[in-house]
Amino acid sequence: MLKYFVSTHRTQGERDNDSNTVPGTELVDIPGKSHEDPDDTYCACARSFVGFISGQATTTAEVAESDMTPVEYIRGFHAKQIALGFKDTPALHASATNDAVHLLLLAACWPVGIVVERRGDEICVRRFPDQT
Ligand SMILES: [Zn+2]
Repeated sequence: MLKYFVSTHRTQGERDNDSNTVPGTELVDIPGKSHEDPDDTYCACARSFVGFISGQATTTAEVAESDMTPVEYIRGFHAKQIALGFKDTPALHASATNDAVHLLLLAACWPVGIVVERRGDEICVRRFPDQT
């Protein structure tokens, strides 16, 4: 089974600046950030994950799993970037693969159902699955 991050509404509201405009539940990426402060008043880039499909942002994600293969996940990640308008170059393929593997390795460390949040470049545990 493969573990990966998906958007979630769980624990939304624990932080005053939480938000989730991702419709439903979908795979998420960590977008680039334009500054370091995850609690910036005007811009949520350093605390947000972005949905693969919708392109919408959420401050909370959780670990899910399925029988998707790592190759399928990486292909999806790469395809998503092309769909966003990036030119399909060897450099894009390499960076998409690196970013996808990075996310898979992080997700593999944690149990299914754990809720995580983003603090700049760090992904941190917000709630363990056995907590209510
Ligand atoms: Zn920003």
